[in-house]
Amino acid sequence: MIEVKSITKQSLIDFEDSLFMLVESVDKFDAGKVLYVDAIVVNSSDPTDYNRIFKAVRTHYDPDVYLTPIFAVAYKALPYLQEHACDGITDLAKYEQIAKRVREIKVNVEQLYLQQQYTSSEEGYLYKLLQFLFTRDTPFTPIPNRFSRVNYYFPLLTDLLDDSEDHNAMDILAAGIKKGYLTEGKMFDKVHLCESCGSAHHNLRETCKSCGSVDLEIRDLVHHFKCAYVGPETDFIQEHSDDLMCPKCHKILRHIGNDYDKPSHIYVCNTCDDPFQDPGFTYHCVDCRDSKEIHHLQEHRIKSMYLTTKGKYLVLNGLPKKIERKSGLATDVLGIYDLDIFQSLLKQEQSRCSVTGGTSVLGEAHITDTGMNVLSRREMQILQGELSVTLKTYINEFEMVTSVNPYCYYFLLINPDEERKENIKDVIEFNLQNLIKSNVNKSEVVVEVDMKPLNEIGDDFEF
Ligand SMILES: [Zn+2]
Ligand SMILES: [Zn+2]
Ligand SMILES: [Zn+2]
Repeated sequence: MIEVKSITKQSLIDFEDSLFMLVESVDKFDAGKVLYVDAIVVNSSDPTDYNRIFKAVRTHYDPDVYLTPIFAVAYKALPYLQEHACDGITDLAKYEQIAKRVREIKVNVEQLYLQQQYTSSEEGYLYKLLQFLFTRDTPFTPIPNRFSRVNYYFPLLTDLLDDSEDHNAMDILAAGIKKGYLTEGKMFDKVHLCESCGSAHHNLRETCKSCGSVDLEIRDLVHHFKCAYVGPETDFIQEHSDDLMCPKCHKILRHIGNDYDKPSHIYVCNTCDDPFQDPGFTYHCVDCRDSKEIHHLQEHRIKSMYLTTKGKYLVLNGLPKKIERKSGLATDVLGIYDLDIFQSLLKQEQSRCSVTGGTSVLGEAHITDTGMNVLSRREMQILQGELSVTLKTYINEFEMVTSVNPYCYYFLLINPDEERKENIKDVIEFNLQNLIKSNVNKSEVVVEVDMKPLNEIGDDFEF
Protein backbone atom coordinates (compact mmCIF):
# COMPACT_ATOMS: atom_id res chain seq x y z
CA MET A 1 0.00 0.00 0.00
CA ILE A 2 2.77 2.41 0.98
CA GLU A 3 4.52 1.77 -2.35
CA VAL A 4 1.41 2.61 -4.37
CA LYS A 5 0.84 5.74 -2.34
CA SER A 6 4.35 6.99 -2.98
CA ILE A 7 4.12 6.46 -6.72
CA THR A 8 0.88 8.33 -7.06
CA LYS A 9 2.35 11.05 -4.88
CA GLN A 10 5.15 11.58 -7.35
CA SER A 11 3.11 12.12 -10.47
CA LEU A 12 3.99 13.41 -13.88
CA ILE A 13 2.45 16.43 -15.58
CA ASP A 14 2.57 16.60 -19.33
CA PHE A 15 2.30 20.22 -20.36
CA GLU A 16 2.83 21.26 -24.00
CA ASP A 17 6.32 19.97 -24.82
CA SER A 18 7.48 19.72 -21.20
CA LEU A 19 7.24 16.95 -18.63
CA PHE A 20 7.14 18.00 -14.97
CA MET A 21 7.62 15.80 -11.94
CA LEU A 22 5.20 16.83 -9.22
CA VAL A 23 6.74 15.99 -5.85
CA GLU A 24 4.37 15.92 -2.89
CA SER A 25 6.23 13.52 -0.64
CA VAL A 26 10.01 13.50 -0.37
CA ASP A 27 10.19 10.09 1.27
CA LYS A 28 10.42 8.22 -1.99
CA PHE A 29 11.97 11.01 -4.04
CA ASP A 30 14.50 9.51 -6.44
CA ALA A 31 16.87 12.07 -8.00
CA GLY A 32 17.89 9.55 -10.68
CA LYS A 33 14.38 9.69 -12.14
CA VAL A 34 14.78 13.44 -12.67
CA LEU A 35 16.78 12.54 -15.78
CA TYR A 36 13.49 11.73 -17.54
CA VAL A 37 11.70 15.00 -16.79
CA ASP A 38 12.26 18.64 -17.73
CA ALA A 39 11.52 20.16 -14.34
CA ILE A 40 10.44 19.46 -10.78
CA VAL A 41 7.44 21.06 -9.13
CA VAL A 42 7.44 20.80 -5.34
CA ASN A 43 4.00 20.88 -3.78
CA SER A 44 4.90 21.63 -0.18
CA SER A 45 5.42 24.54 2.14
CA ASP A 46 7.77 22.62 4.42
CA PRO A 47 11.36 23.95 4.09
CA THR A 48 12.89 20.58 5.00
CA ASP A 49 11.23 19.03 1.90
CA TYR A 50 12.97 21.61 -0.26
CA ASN A 51 16.30 21.10 1.46
CA ARG A 52 16.20 17.38 0.79
CA ILE A 53 15.13 17.75 -2.82
CA PHE A 54 17.72 20.45 -3.54
CA LYS A 55 20.48 18.37 -1.97
CA ALA A 56 19.52 15.19 -3.84
CA VAL A 57 19.22 16.95 -7.21
CA ARG A 58 22.15 19.37 -7.04
CA THR A 59 24.67 16.79 -5.78
CA HIS A 60 23.83 14.33 -8.55
CA TYR A 61 26.77 13.66 -10.90
CA ASP A 62 24.78 14.13 -14.12
CA PRO A 63 24.39 17.74 -15.38
CA ASP A 64 21.00 16.78 -16.84
CA VAL A 65 19.91 16.11 -13.27
CA TYR A 66 21.76 18.72 -11.20
CA LEU A 67 20.82 21.58 -13.53
CA THR A 68 17.11 20.65 -13.62
CA PRO A 69 14.84 23.60 -12.85
CA ILE A 70 12.94 23.32 -9.56
CA PHE A 71 9.70 25.21 -8.98
CA ALA A 72 7.60 25.69 -5.88
CA VAL A 73 3.85 25.72 -5.64
CA ALA A 74 2.98 29.17 -4.34
CA TYR A 75 1.98 28.83 -0.71
CA LYS A 76 1.61 31.78 1.64
CA ALA A 77 3.56 29.81 4.26
CA LEU A 78 6.48 29.18 1.91
CA PRO A 79 9.54 30.89 3.45
CA TYR A 80 11.37 33.61 1.51
CA LEU A 81 14.49 31.47 1.20
CA GLN A 82 12.79 28.46 -0.40
CA GLU A 83 10.78 30.67 -2.73
CA HIS A 84 13.89 32.48 -3.95
CA ALA A 85 16.15 29.44 -4.10
CA CYS A 86 13.73 27.91 -6.62
CA ASP A 87 13.60 28.80 -10.30
CA GLY A 88 10.17 30.27 -9.76
CA ILE A 89 6.79 29.66 -8.22
CA THR A 90 3.73 28.26 -9.90
CA ASP A 91 0.05 27.68 -9.57
CA LEU A 92 -1.06 24.03 -9.80
CA ALA A 93 -3.61 25.01 -12.45
CA LYS A 94 -1.38 27.17 -14.64
CA TYR A 95 1.93 26.03 -16.04
CA GLU A 96 2.55 28.49 -18.94
CA GLN A 97 4.98 30.64 -16.97
CA ILE A 98 7.21 27.86 -15.75
CA ALA A 99 7.04 26.03 -19.07
CA LYS A 100 8.51 29.13 -20.70
CA ARG A 101 11.28 29.30 -18.09
CA VAL A 102 11.99 25.58 -18.52
CA ARG A 103 12.46 26.06 -22.27
CA GLU A 104 14.89 28.96 -21.70
CA ILE A 105 16.98 26.96 -19.26
CA LYS A 106 16.90 23.85 -21.44
CA VAL A 107 18.29 25.72 -24.46
CA ASN A 108 21.20 26.89 -22.30
CA VAL A 109 21.83 23.44 -20.80
CA GLU A 110 22.06 21.96 -24.29
CA GLN A 111 24.90 24.31 -25.18
CA LEU A 112 27.10 23.24 -22.29
CA TYR A 113 30.25 21.26 -22.74
CA LEU A 114 29.85 17.99 -20.81
CA GLN A 115 32.65 18.27 -18.31
CA GLN A 116 32.93 15.15 -16.16
CA GLN A 117 36.31 15.33 -14.46
CA TYR A 118 37.76 17.88 -12.12
CA THR A 119 41.18 18.04 -10.48
CA SER A 120 39.64 18.83 -7.09
CA SER A 121 36.19 18.94 -5.56
CA GLU A 122 36.48 22.75 -5.22
CA GLU A 123 37.16 23.06 -8.95
CA GLY A 124 34.09 20.89 -9.57
CA TYR A 125 31.92 23.05 -7.29
CA LEU A 126 33.03 26.26 -9.00
CA TYR A 127 32.54 24.77 -12.44
CA LYS A 128 29.02 23.59 -11.58
CA LEU A 129 28.20 27.02 -10.20
CA LEU A 130 29.33 28.64 -13.46
CA GLN A 131 27.17 26.18 -15.39
CA PHE A 132 24.26 26.97 -13.11
CA LEU A 133 24.62 30.73 -13.63
CA PHE A 134 24.97 30.32 -17.38
CA THR A 135 21.85 28.17 -17.67
CA ARG A 136 19.79 30.51 -15.45
CA ASP A 137 21.19 33.68 -17.01
CA THR A 138 20.69 35.52 -13.71
CA PRO A 139 23.16 37.10 -11.28
CA PHE A 140 24.39 35.09 -8.32
CA THR A 141 22.51 36.36 -5.27
CA PRO A 142 23.13 35.01 -1.75
CA ILE A 143 19.98 34.74 0.39
CA PRO A 144 19.94 35.24 4.20
CA ASN A 145 19.39 31.94 5.98
CA ARG A 146 19.16 31.46 9.70
CA PHE A 147 19.83 27.72 9.35
CA SER A 148 23.17 28.16 7.64
CA ARG A 149 26.41 28.20 9.64
CA VAL A 150 27.39 31.35 7.74
CA ASN A 151 23.88 32.89 7.86
CA TYR A 152 23.59 32.80 4.06
CA TYR A 153 22.33 30.42 1.44
CA PHE A 154 24.58 30.48 -1.63
CA PRO A 155 22.68 29.22 -4.69
CA LEU A 156 23.92 25.78 -5.69
CA LEU A 157 27.08 25.94 -3.52
CA THR A 158 25.22 25.50 -0.23
CA ASP A 159 23.48 22.44 -1.69
CA LEU A 160 26.81 20.97 -2.80
CA LEU A 161 28.64 21.59 0.45
CA ASP A 162 28.02 19.84 3.75
CA ASP A 163 26.71 22.00 6.55
CA SER A 164 30.12 21.95 8.31
CA GLU A 165 31.91 23.23 5.16
CA ASP A 166 29.50 26.07 4.47
CA HIS A 167 32.26 28.67 4.86
CA ASN A 168 34.16 27.09 1.94
CA ALA A 169 31.59 28.71 -0.33
CA MET A 170 33.39 32.03 0.21
CA ASP A 171 36.73 30.53 -0.85
CA ILE A 172 35.17 28.98 -3.94
CA LEU A 173 33.62 32.31 -4.93
CA ALA A 174 36.93 34.12 -4.31
CA ALA A 175 38.69 31.60 -6.58
CA GLY A 176 36.07 32.25 -9.27
CA ILE A 177 36.78 35.97 -9.10
CA LYS A 178 40.55 35.55 -9.07
CA LYS A 179 40.41 33.37 -12.17
CA GLY A 180 38.17 35.90 -13.93
CA TYR A 181 35.12 33.63 -14.27
CA LEU A 182 33.02 35.79 -11.97
CA THR A 183 32.80 39.51 -11.49
CA GLU A 184 31.58 41.28 -8.37
CA GLY A 185 28.28 43.13 -8.22
CA LYS A 186 26.64 45.02 -5.40
CA MET A 187 27.83 44.40 -1.85
CA PHE A 188 24.85 44.27 0.51
CA ASP A 189 26.00 42.66 3.75
CA LYS A 190 28.92 41.39 5.78
CA VAL A 191 29.26 38.29 7.89
CA HIS A 192 31.79 37.73 10.67
CA LEU A 193 32.95 34.16 11.02
CA CYS A 194 34.57 32.37 13.96
CA GLU A 195 38.32 32.11 13.45
CA SER A 196 38.35 28.50 14.64
CA CYS A 197 35.40 26.92 12.86
CA GLY A 198 33.99 29.42 10.32
CA SER A 199 30.59 29.74 11.95
CA ALA A 200 28.64 33.01 11.99
CA HIS A 201 26.72 31.98 15.09
CA HIS A 202 28.22 33.65 18.11
CA ASN A 203 27.35 35.85 21.03
CA LEU A 204 29.10 39.18 21.48
CA ARG A 205 29.74 40.17 25.07
CA GLU A 206 31.36 42.95 27.09
CA THR A 207 34.19 41.30 28.96
CA CYS A 208 36.43 42.18 31.91
CA LYS A 209 39.91 42.87 30.63
CA SER A 210 41.47 41.79 33.93
CA CYS A 211 39.93 38.38 34.52
CA GLY A 212 37.97 37.63 31.33
CA SER A 213 34.64 37.35 33.14
CA VAL A 214 31.46 38.40 31.35
CA ASP A 215 29.61 38.94 34.63
CA LEU A 216 29.71 42.76 34.54
CA GLU A 217 27.44 45.43 35.84
CA ILE A 218 27.01 48.95 34.58
CA ARG A 219 26.85 51.60 37.30
CA ASP A 220 26.30 55.33 37.12
CA LEU A 221 29.24 57.50 38.06
CA VAL A 222 28.36 60.22 40.59
CA HIS A 223 30.23 63.52 40.75
CA HIS A 224 29.81 65.50 44.01
CA PHE A 225 30.28 69.19 43.07
CA LYS A 226 31.25 70.47 46.51
CA CYS A 227 34.28 68.24 47.13
CA ALA A 228 34.79 67.08 43.51
CA TYR A 229 34.65 63.41 44.46
CA VAL A 230 33.78 61.07 41.57
CA GLY A 231 32.87 57.44 42.13
CA PRO A 232 30.30 54.73 41.30
CA GLU A 233 26.84 55.37 42.71
CA THR A 234 27.23 52.36 45.01
CA ASP A 235 29.89 54.32 46.97
CA PHE A 236 27.16 56.84 47.89
CA ILE A 237 24.42 54.39 48.86
CA GLN A 238 23.77 54.01 52.59
CA GLU A 239 22.58 50.89 54.33
CA HIS A 240 19.71 52.35 56.33
CA SER A 241 18.64 55.36 54.26
CA ASP A 242 17.56 56.10 50.71
CA ASP A 243 19.66 59.28 50.71
CA LEU A 244 22.95 59.36 48.84
CA MET A 245 25.91 60.34 51.03
CA CYS A 246 29.34 61.40 49.77
CA PRO A 247 31.95 58.90 51.02
CA LYS A 248 34.60 61.66 51.01
CA CYS A 249 32.98 64.64 52.74
CA HIS A 250 29.98 62.77 54.28
CA LYS A 251 27.46 65.39 53.02
CA ILE A 252 24.01 64.26 51.85
CA LEU A 253 23.41 64.73 48.11
CA ARG A 254 19.97 66.25 47.56
CA HIS A 255 19.37 67.67 44.12
CA ILE A 256 20.83 66.28 40.93
CA GLY A 257 22.04 69.25 38.90
CA ASN A 258 22.61 71.39 42.03
CA ASP A 259 24.61 69.13 44.36
CA TYR A 260 25.83 66.48 41.99
CA ASP A 261 25.52 65.01 38.50
CA LYS A 262 26.01 61.68 36.75
CA PRO A 263 28.66 62.39 34.08
CA SER A 264 28.89 58.83 32.73
CA HIS A 265 28.84 55.23 33.77
CA ILE A 266 31.35 52.61 34.72
CA TYR A 267 31.62 48.83 34.46
CA VAL A 268 32.28 46.80 37.55
CA CYS A 269 33.32 43.16 37.29
CA ASN A 270 31.32 40.94 39.61
CA THR A 271 34.10 38.34 39.56
CA CYS A 272 37.21 40.40 40.36
CA ASP A 273 35.55 43.66 41.49
CA ASP A 274 37.66 45.71 39.06
CA PRO A 275 35.97 48.94 37.93
CA PHE A 276 36.70 50.18 34.40
CA GLN A 277 35.38 52.58 31.77
CA ASP A 278 35.98 50.52 28.59
CA PRO A 279 35.32 46.81 28.67
CA GLY A 280 36.85 44.33 26.24
CA PHE A 281 34.62 42.71 23.60
CA THR A 282 34.72 38.99 23.01
CA TYR A 283 32.68 36.50 21.04
CA HIS A 284 31.55 33.10 22.12
CA CYS A 285 31.06 30.74 19.19
CA VAL A 286 27.84 28.78 19.49
CA ASP A 287 29.20 26.02 17.24
CA CYS A 288 32.72 25.32 18.57
CA ARG A 289 32.35 27.12 21.94
CA ASP A 290 35.58 29.03 21.40
CA SER A 291 35.88 32.49 22.98
CA LYS A 292 38.12 35.15 21.49
CA GLU A 293 38.41 38.88 21.16
CA ILE A 294 36.19 40.14 18.36
CA HIS A 295 39.08 41.30 16.19
CA HIS A 296 39.70 37.59 15.54
CA LEU A 297 36.39 37.31 13.66
CA GLN A 298 36.88 36.87 9.92
CA GLU A 299 34.95 39.45 7.95
CA HIS A 300 33.46 38.42 4.61
CA ARG A 301 31.60 40.66 2.22
CA ILE A 302 28.34 39.34 0.83
CA LYS A 303 27.87 40.43 -2.77
CA SER A 304 25.96 39.57 -5.86
CA MET A 305 28.10 38.23 -8.71
CA TYR A 306 27.94 37.83 -12.46
CA LEU A 307 29.31 35.31 -14.89
CA THR A 308 32.02 36.87 -17.10
CA THR A 309 32.66 36.16 -20.77
CA LYS A 310 35.64 34.06 -19.66
CA GLY A 311 33.30 32.08 -17.38
CA LYS A 312 30.80 31.59 -20.20
CA TYR A 313 33.57 30.47 -22.48
CA LEU A 314 34.67 27.92 -19.90
CA VAL A 315 31.28 26.27 -19.52
CA LEU A 316 30.74 26.20 -23.28
CA ASN A 317 34.13 24.66 -23.99
CA GLY A 318 35.17 22.79 -20.86
CA LEU A 319 38.26 22.99 -18.71
CA PRO A 320 41.59 23.27 -20.54
CA LYS A 321 42.69 19.75 -21.32
CA LYS A 322 46.27 19.13 -20.23
CA ILE A 323 46.70 15.94 -22.32
CA GLU A 324 45.76 17.74 -25.49
CA ARG A 325 48.29 20.49 -24.99
CA LYS A 326 50.92 18.63 -26.99
CA SER A 327 48.88 16.44 -29.28
CA GLY A 328 47.20 18.76 -31.77
CA LEU A 329 49.92 21.37 -32.19
CA ALA A 330 52.03 21.25 -35.35
CA THR A 331 55.25 21.78 -33.41
CA ASP A 332 57.34 20.76 -36.42
CA VAL A 333 56.47 24.15 -37.91
CA LEU A 334 58.96 26.87 -36.98
CA GLY A 335 57.39 29.29 -34.48
CA ILE A 336 54.73 26.91 -33.15
CA TYR A 337 55.60 25.75 -29.67
CA ASP A 338 54.19 23.72 -26.82
CA LEU A 339 52.82 25.86 -24.04
CA ASP A 340 55.78 25.41 -21.65
CA ILE A 341 58.34 26.49 -24.29
CA PHE A 342 56.11 29.38 -25.34
CA GLN A 343 55.91 30.49 -21.71
CA SER A 344 59.73 30.53 -21.31
CA LEU A 345 60.18 32.45 -24.56
CA LEU A 346 57.48 34.87 -23.46
CA LYS A 347 59.27 35.46 -20.15
CA GLN A 348 62.50 36.23 -22.03
CA GLU A 349 60.73 38.67 -24.31
CA GLN A 350 59.07 40.24 -21.27
CA SER A 351 62.45 40.96 -19.65
CA ARG A 352 63.89 42.16 -22.97
CA CYS A 353 60.99 44.62 -23.26
CA SER A 354 61.44 45.91 -19.72
CA VAL A 355 65.13 46.63 -20.44
CA THR A 356 64.76 48.06 -23.96
CA GLY A 357 61.28 49.61 -23.56
CA GLY A 358 59.91 47.21 -26.16
CA THR A 359 56.19 47.18 -26.96
CA SER A 360 55.65 43.50 -27.70
CA VAL A 361 52.18 42.09 -27.08
CA LEU A 362 50.60 38.77 -26.17
CA GLY A 363 47.62 38.00 -28.39
CA GLU A 364 44.86 35.64 -27.37
CA ALA A 365 42.42 34.10 -29.84
CA HIS A 366 39.33 32.57 -28.27
CA ILE A 367 36.91 30.41 -30.19
CA THR A 368 33.32 29.91 -29.11
CA ASP A 369 31.43 27.35 -31.13
CA THR A 370 28.93 24.86 -29.80
CA GLY A 371 29.12 23.14 -33.19
CA MET A 372 32.63 21.95 -32.26
CA ASN A 373 31.31 19.98 -29.27
CA VAL A 374 30.31 17.08 -31.50
CA LEU A 375 33.76 16.64 -33.05
CA SER A 376 35.72 13.57 -32.03
CA ARG A 377 38.96 13.91 -30.16
CA ARG A 378 40.96 13.17 -33.30
CA GLU A 379 39.00 15.71 -35.38
CA MET A 380 39.60 18.28 -32.66
CA GLN A 381 43.34 17.65 -32.77
CA ILE A 382 43.46 18.01 -36.55
CA LEU A 383 41.50 21.27 -36.35
CA GLN A 384 43.77 22.55 -33.57
CA GLY A 385 46.83 21.78 -35.71
CA GLU A 386 45.36 23.54 -38.76
CA LEU A 387 44.29 26.56 -36.80
CA SER A 388 47.72 27.00 -35.19
CA VAL A 389 49.45 26.70 -38.60
CA THR A 390 47.01 29.20 -40.15
CA LEU A 391 47.49 31.59 -37.27
CA LYS A 392 51.27 31.39 -37.70
CA THR A 393 51.04 32.42 -41.36
CA TYR A 394 49.66 35.84 -40.37
CA ILE A 395 52.55 36.78 -38.13
CA ASN A 396 56.29 37.22 -38.77
CA GLU A 397 58.75 34.36 -39.02
CA PHE A 398 60.45 35.32 -35.74
CA GLU A 399 57.14 35.52 -33.86
CA MET A 400 55.35 32.55 -32.29
CA VAL A 401 52.16 30.67 -31.54
CA THR A 402 50.91 28.17 -28.99
CA SER A 403 47.57 26.61 -28.12
CA VAL A 404 46.15 25.60 -24.76
CA ASN A 405 43.25 23.61 -26.21
CA PRO A 406 41.37 23.58 -29.53
CA TYR A 407 39.45 26.68 -28.42
CA CYS A 408 42.33 28.81 -27.19
CA TYR A 409 45.45 30.12 -28.97
CA TYR A 410 48.18 32.55 -27.94
CA PHE A 411 50.63 34.43 -30.12
CA LEU A 412 53.48 36.81 -29.50
CA LEU A 413 53.98 39.93 -31.62
CA ILE A 414 57.38 41.64 -31.42
CA ASN A 415 57.10 45.45 -31.19
CA PRO A 416 54.03 45.83 -33.43
CA ASP A 417 52.68 49.31 -34.13
CA GLU A 418 48.97 50.14 -33.62
CA GLU A 419 48.12 49.71 -37.27
CA ARG A 420 49.62 46.24 -37.43
CA LYS A 421 47.82 45.18 -34.25
CA GLU A 422 44.45 46.29 -35.63
CA ASN A 423 45.14 44.64 -38.91
CA ILE A 424 46.22 41.33 -37.42
CA LYS A 425 43.19 41.23 -35.12
CA ASP A 426 40.83 41.56 -38.10
CA VAL A 427 42.72 39.14 -40.30
CA ILE A 428 42.92 36.44 -37.63
CA GLU A 429 39.29 36.72 -36.57
CA PHE A 430 38.09 36.62 -40.16
CA ASN A 431 40.28 33.78 -41.37
CA LEU A 432 40.00 31.48 -38.37
CA GLN A 433 36.23 31.91 -38.47
CA ASN A 434 36.16 30.92 -42.14
CA LEU A 435 38.43 27.95 -41.60
CA ILE A 436 36.21 26.63 -38.81
CA LYS A 437 33.00 27.22 -40.75
CA SER A 438 34.32 25.16 -43.63
CA ASN A 439 35.32 22.30 -41.30
CA VAL A 440 32.51 22.14 -38.74
CA ASN A 441 28.90 21.25 -39.47
CA LYS A 442 26.33 23.72 -38.13
CA SER A 443 29.10 25.96 -36.93
CA GLU A 444 28.10 29.12 -35.06
CA VAL A 445 31.68 30.14 -34.54
CA VAL A 446 32.81 33.40 -33.00
CA VAL A 447 36.53 34.16 -32.84
CA GLU A 448 37.65 36.91 -30.51
CA VAL A 449 41.18 38.28 -30.50
CA ASP A 450 42.45 40.20 -27.53
CA MET A 451 45.94 41.74 -27.13
CA LYS A 452 47.81 42.71 -23.99
CA PRO A 453 51.17 44.53 -23.79
CA LEU A 454 53.77 42.28 -22.12
CA ASN A 455 54.49 44.86 -19.42
CA GLU A 456 50.85 44.62 -18.29
CA ILE A 457 50.46 40.89 -17.93
CA GLY A 458 52.64 40.26 -14.86
CA ASP A 459 54.40 37.07 -13.79
CA ASP A 460 51.40 35.05 -12.68
CA PHE A 461 49.47 35.19 -15.96
CA GLU A 462 47.19 32.16 -16.19
CA PHE A 463 47.09 30.47 -19.55
ZN1 LIG B 1 37.16 40.70 36.30
ZN1 LIG C 1 31.77 65.09 48.76
ZN1 LIG D 1 33.61 28.44 16.18
